[in-house]
Amino acid sequence: MDKHLELRGIGKRFGTAEVLSGVDLSIARGEFVCLLGPSGCGKTTLLRIISGFESASSGQLLLDGQEINHVAPHLRGFGMVFQSLALFPHMTVAENIAYGLKLKGVAPAQRASRVEELLHMVQLPAIADRPVSALSGGQRQRVAIARALAVPPKLFLLDEPLSALDAQLRDSMQIELRQLQQQFGVTTIVVTHDQHEAMMLSDRLVVLKGGRVQQCDTPSHVYRKPANAFVAEFLGAANLLPGVVRGPGMVEVLGSTLALPSSLPAGSKVTLAVRSEDLRFEQAHLDAPARPNSISGEIDFLRDLGAKSELILRCGDERLRCHGSDAQFQSARCGQRVNVLIDAERCSVFAG
Ligand code: ATP
Repeated sequence: MDKHLELRGIGKRFGTAEVLSGVDLSIARGEFVCLLGPSGCGKTTLLRIISGFESASSGQLLLDGQEINHVAPHLRGFGMVFQSLALFPHMTVAENIAYGLKLKGVAPAQRASRVEELLHMVQLPAIADRPVSALSGGQRQRVAIARALAVPPKLFLLDEPLSALDAQLRDSMQIELRQLQQQFGVTTIVVTHDQHEAMMLSDRLVVLKGGRVQQCDTPSHVYRKPANAFVAEFLGAANLLPGVVRGPGMVEVLGSTLALPSSLPAGSKVTLAVRSEDLRFEQAHLDAPARPNSISGEIDFLRDLGAKSELILRCGDERLRCHGSDAQFQSARCGQRVNVLIDAERCSVFAG
């Protein structure tokens, strides 16, 4: 890996509160990484440490192998889109975007054509002469992205860059941002709490909880092979069920013994994580023998969402979400007794 940015054992304390601990991360040149996690997990603090606006309490930050812990933010050459780095309110859109180019001594005609090009890229043509004060929140975010990219940055750091956009524009800007990043080939780190956005944008996801990295991998790997129950639930809202290991590869869940991958000793408490789209069910017949690898349940809630249906299955004291679009969903009825089939290939078993 061509390591562009490296974090070694980064920790951060605010007073007695430990906000980040032992964060190790290597980011390759040109990679797009999202920092993802619930509110308060330390995403923004980590991005601010990378930017230089916050200092780490411990650990090292290296850019191209050189320690930069003590390099001032404006000397790092990073492009940043943070809420706190607002646009210059007394300037026009063009003046904001051209600011860095002017500092670099780029001629006015070239500045103007670069501004037009950048505005086109962020889907805001023909607003160059507007005052920033006349823009909506979403337009400001896009102008801030254009401003940060005007002078190609060494690293592109963004904190919730699309949060002010409505759902439709947000979707198209996610694609746009990803394409812009690929076009520029710039190493990019984005903070988001939106798992869909993180999966749309990134080459790798860093999932944080309580200031610690839970998992760092490609979106599909994190989704398919979550490192623990927290990641499974946070990314894709997996159903979590308590269980107990009864023997090699045998786990008891809600009174049924299921054949599931687990190497833990008998008696260990486990959590079974299974995604809503991976649950299958079939109508239960009282006189039929119990189906292998199933638990029994009842349909408690049913909703047609257009492209798919959502069901809530009540299994003992647990409620499981189930999504799908095939025939079994169309014939489902509230109150129906069902066998919920657990596919060992499509679930994860975690200790605890
Ligand atoms: P959100 O998604 O809500 O923005 P986050 O994951 O970005 O959350 P941070 O903003 O990094 O989280 O905050 C992590 C923790 O550090 C929080 O508990 C926050 O209250 C605390 N914190 C952040 N900045 C400071 C500060 N300057 N002084 C004291 N505590 C702080």
